[in-house]
Amino acid sequence: MFCPECKSEFIQGITTCPACKVKLIDELPHEPEPEFVDYSELLATYNPADIAFLKSLFDSEGITYFFKGEHFMYVRPLADPVRLMVKTDQISKAVELLKDLKLSFTGINLDKFTKTK
Ligand SMILES: [Zn+2]
Repeated sequence: MFCPECKSEFIQGITTCPACKVKLIDELPHEPEPEFVDYSELLATYNPADIAFLKSLFDSEGITYFFKGEHFMYVRPLADPVRLMVKTDQISKAVELLKDLKLSFTGINLDKFTKTK
């Protein structure tokens, strides 16, 4: 039995991952792992409105990204922030897009990205 979230394997008889609180599945789906793409965490936010906005922004700008832990927002609000992961070689472009925006990000720190330019 496997957890679809954290990919941990469990012995027979266990049906729910104690860490993720999700139902275990018999086999992990053989989805192609995007290991050739290097992602970096750009920011973390608790605000669903920010997430919706960032999605439309990055989609229209062709930024490759994904949100880590997004579904936790609805299960355990405020427990874990959603982390925005951006393809590493597009980080500087993403930072440029975000620099002038006033969003209610939590834990945003663009300094580390802009300094290395
Ligand atoms: Zn798990």
